[in-house]
Amino acid sequence: MQKFKNIGLKLTPQRLAILGFLEGNPDHPSAEDIYKAVSVQFPTMSLATVYNTLDALREKGYIIELTIDPAKKRFDPFTKMHHHLICTSCKRVKDIHADFMLDIPEQVRGDFRITGNHIEFYGVCPVCGNGHERRI
Ligand code: ZN
Ligand code: MN
Repeated sequence: MQKFKNIGLKLTPQRLAILGFLEGNPDHPSAEDIYKAVSVQFPTMSLATVYNTLDALREKGYIIELTIDPAKKRFDPFTKMHHHLICTSCKRVKDIHADFMLDIPEQVRGDFRITGNHIEFYGVCPVCGNGHERRI
């Protein structure tokens, strides 16, 4: 929590609970997910508090905003470069930690120097896949 000292917002107990929920969370929660989880402990907390805390964290580079789920933004406390695998059925997002040596031909990348990439893989997770098999 010490590292969040310079977030630029007053660290109220509610905001600390939001930070605590996000820290090390591998589930890529949406603002609504975070609100639901933290409002159990802080029933008077507003969704606006979640949004402005997320905004501040994103601006300071403590979290990444993911747009791979068209229905809602998801947030990732793991800010080092990595890839994502999304279940097209339940929208679960899994981290992929692997390097893919992708080369873009010079005539395509022009005068850009490539510094990274973010690959979105799509698939069906075991929970959704098994459910589908049972229904048949
Ligand atoms: Zn799924
Ligand atoms: Mn991730």
